[in-house]
Amino acid sequence: MDIVKGNMGWIEVIVGPMFSGKSEELIRRLRRAQIARQRVQIFKPAIDARYEANEIVSHSGLGIPSDNVTKALEIMEKLQARTEVVGIDEAQFLGEEVVDVCTRLANLGKRVIVAGLDTDYRGRPFEPMPRLLAVAEEITKLLAICVRCGNPAVHTQRMVESEELIVVGASDSYEARCRRCFEPNPAQARREAGPLLLPRNRAAAGGGK
Ligand code: ADP
Ligand code: ZN
Repeated sequence: MDIVKGNMGWIEVIVGPMFSGKSEELIRRLRRAQIARQRVQIFKPAIDARYEANEIVSHSGLGIPSDNVTKALEIMEKLQARTEVVGIDEAQFLGEEVVDVCTRLANLGKRVIVAGLDTDYRGRPFEPMPRLLAVAEEITKLLAICVRCGNPAVHTQRMVESEELIVVGASDSYEARCRRCFEPNPAQARREAGPLLLPRNRAAAGGGK
């Protein structure tokens, strides 16, 4: 976005599964804006209590101070008029209002950089991220490494049994998986297809436990 003229705002979205480096990439872009002496405000939903309360921390340990918000509109309440760059992590937890909030920020002339999961633990689009992608000027889709086979991983595999959409956790509850090794719902697959399905899938993926 280096050909933007005047003080026009825009929306950059960073998506991908867990462990794909979304937080790292968000932190990298925000750090560079800070080095350029731009005024930066950084937000994340209070629901993500992993690591530090007032800090975005990547799985690799990079961190940057942030403000906790419980809903997207709180970003507008906390916004300072002179802010030039707004960073938002884990946007999928902020509800559908986050799309309006990002649009309003960009219309105010802010550079908005948003990171979030584009699919949930079942592999379905994680609202409202698809709608955010539709209104964004720039999209970066990152991939992780499949922990089973080493291929590029587009999915977040839940390792604990739960039907809840949101179960906050890190490496103990989730794994990065490629489309071949991903098991959208292992319990249901076992029930519906009998005991053969999972071993056959594992064999096709080149082994495993
Ligand atoms: P995200 O925000 O997308 O969850 P992070 O930026 O927090 O990702 O973490 C990315 C880092 O996670 C990588 O640089 C790497 O150090 C680590 N990591 C752990 N497991 C994996 C994996 N399966 N694939 C890629 N990176 C991984
Ligand atoms: Zn795989």
